Amino acid sequence: MMEKQTISREVTEELCRKAVEMRRYSYVPYSHFHVGAALLSEDGRIFTGCNVENAGYPACTCAERTAFAKAVSEGAISFSAIAISGGPEDGELQYCPPCGVCRQVMSEFCGGDFLIYLAKAPDDYETYTLDDLMPKRFTPAHLLKDRGGTVPKKDCEEASMTAERTDISKMIDHTLLKASAEQADIRKLCAEARTHGFASVCVNSCYAKLAAEELEGTDVKTCCVVGFPLGAMAARAKAFEARCAVEDGAAEIDMVINVGALKEGRDDYVREEIRAVVESAKPAIVKVIIETCLLTDDEKRKACELSEQAGAAFVKTSTGFSTGGANAHDVALMKKAVGGRLKVKAAGGIHTPDEARALIEAGADRIGASNGVALLG
Ligand SMILES: [Zn+2]
Repeated sequence: MMEKQTISREVTEELCRKAVEMRRYSYVPYSHFHVGAALLSEDGRIFTGCNVENAGYPACTCAERTAFAKAVSEGAISFSAIAISGGPEDGELQYCPPCGVCRQVMSEFCGGDFLIYLAKAPDDYETYTLDDLMPKRFTPAHLLKDRGGTVPKKDCEEASMTAERTDISKMIDHTLLKASAEQADIRKLCAEARTHGFASVCVNSCYAKLAAEELEGTDVKTCCVVGFPLGAMAARAKAFEARCAVEDGAAEIDMVINVGALKEGRDDYVREEIRAVVESAKPAIVKVIIETCLLTDDEKRKACELSEQAGAAFVKTSTGFSTGGANAHDVALMKKAVGGRLKVKAAGGIHTPDEARALIEAGADRIGASNGVALLG
């Protein structure tokens, strides 16, 4: 599946710090260009590497490939992220991108969401995905897919799949938030979600209990909106609504931020309100609806930053009840702003498989839609 993991800022900074440090071991008598790398495996181990040059130039090895070779030779085969740091011996560090050969090596082991940090310092790095740096890549699946071969890793399908071939059902929040929704509609929504194995059903909090009962014994989560759809109610009312929903069975909370407070720069208010909902929703995760159609790009980035500081799990584009829904520009902007540390949910106006795919390709981890079944194509 395309469900992506979240990497904390601490881990990202640790990777970047190790990549910078590893440069001291670079063996580079010819280029004098020192590169260090730190590779995070899915089991949480970090493998480091430096570049190792050779008088026979083709025998040179890059820092990234050194790290991959070390990792694979110690049993790691699935990876989440790599930090790379490079620069000349006596010069400043650069945002040093991996060479083509290293990108190919990444394609062997990593999916499109594999994160690549180009680090100048632990807190100064650019974030890319493998999809960003190598969108159309040759992978093990090309050799093995149609020949009855076995792909030599458990999640190679994920590694090589484009969104086009991915079963997106596990990414869909099947949603019914209309004021006129009745219990029978909620039951039907849950039945469809069970049939198709959706990630969740997304309902108003009055239906948390009913949805949770309907979904008992399945992997489908109950997701409730809070402070919906305007986000303008008292902060403590949002926190209380979240608590009620979780007590009734919600495992995920989609809250709306206070848009006006964000726009006038009351960052503390916005952050603390999100934090209050995050705290009262535990152990449920919180997605923060920032209502992109009402925000400038700078405000969208600020909303993402505050959501991260407040401990949210996702940022989400839209309620679907305002002047606009999700688009690829906003999803990509939000994805970049949260750098893989939070996930991104696209919602609002998503009606066709093509629209869903475009948003997934832009970086969406979750799709909210009132007709999830139509998105399966
Ligand atoms: Zn390389």
